[in-house]
Amino acid sequence: MQEVEITSNLKERDSKHLWHPLTQHKVSSEMLPISKASGVILTDDEGREYIDGISSWYTAVYGHCNPYITNKVFAQMQNLDQVVFSGFTHEPAIELSEALIKILPEGQQKLFFNDNGSTATEIGIKMALQYHHNLGNDRKVMLAFENGFHGDTFGAMSVSGLSVYNGAFEDHFIRVERIPVPDGTNNIEILDQLESILNKEEIAGFIYEPLIQGAAAMKFHDNEGLNAILKLCRQHEVLLVADEVMTGFGKTGTYFASDHIEEKPDVICMSKALTAGLLPMGLTSCNQKVYDAFYSDEIAKGLFHGHTYTANPLACTAALAGIELLTSEEIKQNIHRISESNQQFVRELKQKQQVLNARSMGVILAFELNVEMERYGNLRNRLFRFFMEKGLFLRPLGNTIYIVPPYVTSEEQMKKIYILLQECIDQFQA
Ligand SMILES: *Cc1c(COP(=O)(O)O)cnc(C)c1O
Repeated sequence: MQEVEITSNLKERDSKHLWHPLTQHKVSSEMLPISKASGVILTDDEGREYIDGISSWYTAVYGHCNPYITNKVFAQMQNLDQVVFSGFTHEPAIELSEALIKILPEGQQKLFFNDNGSTATEIGIKMALQYHHNLGNDRKVMLAFENGFHGDTFGAMSVSGLSVYNGAFEDHFIRVERIPVPDGTNNIEILDQLESILNKEEIAGFIYEPLIQGAAAMKFHDNEGLNAILKLCRQHEVLLVADEVMTGFGKTGTYFASDHIEEKPDVICMSKALTAGLLPMGLTSCNQKVYDAFYSDEIAKGLFHGHTYTANPLACTAALAGIELLTSEEIKQNIHRISESNQQFVRELKQKQQVLNARSMGVILAFELNVEMERYGNLRNRLFRFFMEKGLFLRPLGNTIYIVPPYVTSEEQMKKIYILLQECIDQFQA
């Protein structure tokens, strides 16, 4: 009885002063208190366990509270916690830069620190706009995919796909032209459309989530189509800004999704798994060409952007430890094992009439339920509750179900995930 009281107490206390993200509190249910996270398992304050099937929004890919990472951060914490990164530097940032440049796609040379995914893309956009400004080009428009998601600050919102949620701010957005995502059937039309945009508008940069749009319900792109778009943009001197906030650090089976694509980006935005789910930090990297456009005797040509916690030594230490794990044989093999079992499961899903568009890439697996949405009321909530009751934390989007399991998910745990996905699908008659 005592336990229950404490629980209801936490929920009640939460609702008193806390305002949660992406939540309309009037219609949302109570927040579930989570008291512990270890490896792949989240534990609520009544002791119920949940497999973290989405790595807590694609962050905790090496498992929660991974001692390899927490020990390093603990040691760093006792030595240097925080220092101004303008005028000073420190070893964790330097070591991180050396380790990261080694695994970034070809051509990346310089790293600019920031605080999260939104600011990472915000700086990507600023780099593209100021690059052309510094070169004396009159290019003030960004190009983006329809239905993309790049974050919640103003620049990031502007280049994200228009949604009902951003309506209050639309009048304040920067100028953006949008093109559809290439799916293999529409590649030529998109190139035609892009050609006319490029001839009509002065486009500074193209921001894109390479190969998979996360928030648009794990929408996969046609690789050749994307590559052709990137090529055409480059021919027109449009800077290529890859938003790898979701796809980065192993999720698609390679270190970065851009590794799968021939045409490499000029700028890469990173966050989420960058710091292994331990501390918030973002990074925007660029190639020498971009950096050179800011390198000048004219002070105003510099990138005058900075956050108070820029390159926080603890976050840098977590990121460095994460990269050490990512490049280890053990994690590489785990990613390979999960990728293979995902592919096998996708083959099984393709036999099912209740399933549409089963797909996987690396540890990411997604499919749509082939059901009449209206028949099930709030399908998303129903699916969410189904999985939570069975001990699996997922965040379905509409009729899309997807997983992004941590790389340390065991074979047994993967099996449990697949069985629960099957059970869920089997509830619905084709
Ligand atoms: C999550 C996400 C962002 C925003 O990151 P935040 O840290 O939530 O600000 C930007 N781009 C992509 C592709 C994302 O998945």
